[in-house]
Amino acid sequence: MPSIADLLRHRLNSMLPAELEPGERLKLLTPFRHPLLISRHRAGLIVDRVRLFALLFALLTPLWGIVDMLAFPYPLWSQLLALRLIVCLAFFSLLLFYHERGRMTDAYLAMFILFAIPTLFYISSHTLLAHYDLTDMPAAVAAGYAFLPFVLMAGLALFPLTLLENLLVALVLLMAQGVAGYLNWSTLNWPSFVGAFWLLILIAGVTSLACMSQLAFMMVLLRQAIRDDLTKVFSRGSGEEILQMQWHTSLRNNSALSLAFIDLDRFKEINDIFGHAMGDQALRNASQHIQDSMRSSDSLVRWGGEEFLLIMPDTDMTRARQALERLLSSGLGYRPDGAPLTASIGVAERYYDRVDVPHKLLELADQRMYGAKQAGRNRISAL
Ligand code: GH3
Ligand code: MG
Ligand code: MG
Repeated sequence: MPSIADLLRHRLNSMLPAELEPGERLKLLTPFRHPLLISRHRAGLIVDRVRLFALLFALLTPLWGIVDMLAFPYPLWSQLLALRLIVCLAFFSLLLFYHERGRMTDAYLAMFILFAIPTLFYISSHTLLAHYDLTDMPAAVAAGYAFLPFVLMAGLALFPLTLLENLLVALVLLMAQGVAGYLNWSTLNWPSFVGAFWLLILIAGVTSLACMSQLAFMMVLLRQAIRDDLTKVFSRGSGEEILQMQWHTSLRNNSALSLAFIDLDRFKEINDIFGHAMGDQALRNASQHIQDSMRSSDSLVRWGGEEFLLIMPDTDMTRARQALERLLSSGLGYRPDGAPLTASIGVAERYYDRVDVPHKLLELADQRMYGAKQAGRNRISAL
């Protein structure tokens, strides 16, 4: 008989995609230590959703002005309409002019603006409405204004956010609700205010689950898309993206960037003599050996068949060579007949080689790898 705690854990686990790895679960809680590619895609996705949200609000906000006009006395409806037009303009500006460059800070700012616009509208419309003593139909329409925080809280579910990020935004929305209550405190119907506040907290709870599950699915899909099926290291397409990002970081920070082309020696023989399945196994082992010997900030890419690219940020030529020497001396595993599996490596570095575009660095590393082959294999060439 499983205990209630086991059952609960099982039920909670089944809400997340089964392919989620244990290390990825922690990443659902806080935005720290997320891999660069995940942050970049998440930032892009969040800003796209912000634009979608902005479009929807830009269209709907002025439309409700017609209802205001029918329900409210002059000049209340015209003041509200002016507010709505300003809001509409603000949403359209966000939709059209906000640029992101793949950084999470861009995504946070976009979300902040997206939520700040209706929050300000909410507070100012409440302040306006509090000046009028409305009854019947106008009072019912005015009550509709109280739904805005619920719409925003529920809308949060559109974003792939970590628990911490979600709680912070939810807290801001709850505070705005509190401020609006405080501004109207003399006319406030306390029981209904407390009820609405509690409902908002409940929606925040459900929303945070929705956000984390979006993030979980995004991470799994992204991992499957950016990893090579056989070796689970980065595929060539994502490797090119990482190289671009690291190149720009290294220019910005004035830091070193080394690239190593690693080509396994006489690999065709393994396939020819022992079969393709053995070849595949040797490839998996070799990539595991390279990964074990590299730093966590390095990225390993399967560039082609039995050829890998190692991207080493903040690593100058001397340190890159030392690391690669260590890799060669610890070995890349064994061939099926027990002989060591070796590789020929070409290495190039941005400063050392005075290169100004990333593809030249790639070309140099590639040429040097061929040099290492010609010089007798199982060695590193940096010239
Ligand atoms: P060299 O030392 O000159 O690099 O010799 P090599 O045999 O490693 O080089 P070559 O480029 O002639 O052959 C590469 C071989 O790698 C050819 C192909 O059969 C094998 N290969 C490429 N991709 C895979 C793969 O996914 N699985 C397996 N089993 N073999 C692969
Ligand atoms: Mg080879
Ligand atoms: Mg090759």
